[in-house]
Amino acid sequence: MVDTLVRYFGPKAAEPFDIVEQDWTTEEFTRGCYGGRLGAGAWTQYGTALAEPVGRIHWAGAETSSVWNGYMDGAIRSGRRAADEILG
Ligand SMILES: Cc1cc2nc3c(=O)[nH]c(=O)nc-3n(C[C@H](O)[C@H](O)[C@H](O)COP(=O)(O)OP(=O)(O)OC[C@H]3O[C@@H](n4cnc5c(N)ncnc54)[C@H](O)[C@@H]3O)c2cc1C
Repeated sequence: MVDTLVRYFGPKAAEPFDIVEQDWTTEEFTRGCYGGRLGAGAWTQYGTALAEPVGRIHWAGAETSSVWNGYMDGAIRSGRRAADEILG
């Protein structure tokens, strides 16, 4: 892991300040990972409701994205979508 970080970020990455290990299978709220999944049919029927603004509140987050839902790519897309909504 450290070797890979050094390859990308240089020799300073060989001396981490701290290392955090997390067992995602025991995480209290997500109960696993790496993504939150709705039950069968829930996304196709109701998924768009997750991204609908409520008054002045706009929603972003990987689970609101219709593309790459549940991934980093989807998270960034959703942030851009919410920012566009607000600017509009
Ligand atoms: C173990 C694991 C492995 C993964 N691997 C991959 C991978 O290989 N590739 C990939 O594309 N995706 C991966 N993902 C998924 C990806 O990390 C997520 O989809 C993405 O980070 C979600 O981004 P987000 O901005 O929607 O939410 P988050 O990154 O969860 O951001 C939400 C933020 O809101 C904060 N927050 C929560 N409540 C409050 C509050 N009340 N007030 C203020 N702040 C609050 C949280 O602290 C958090 O910082 C992985 C996820 C996990 C857990």
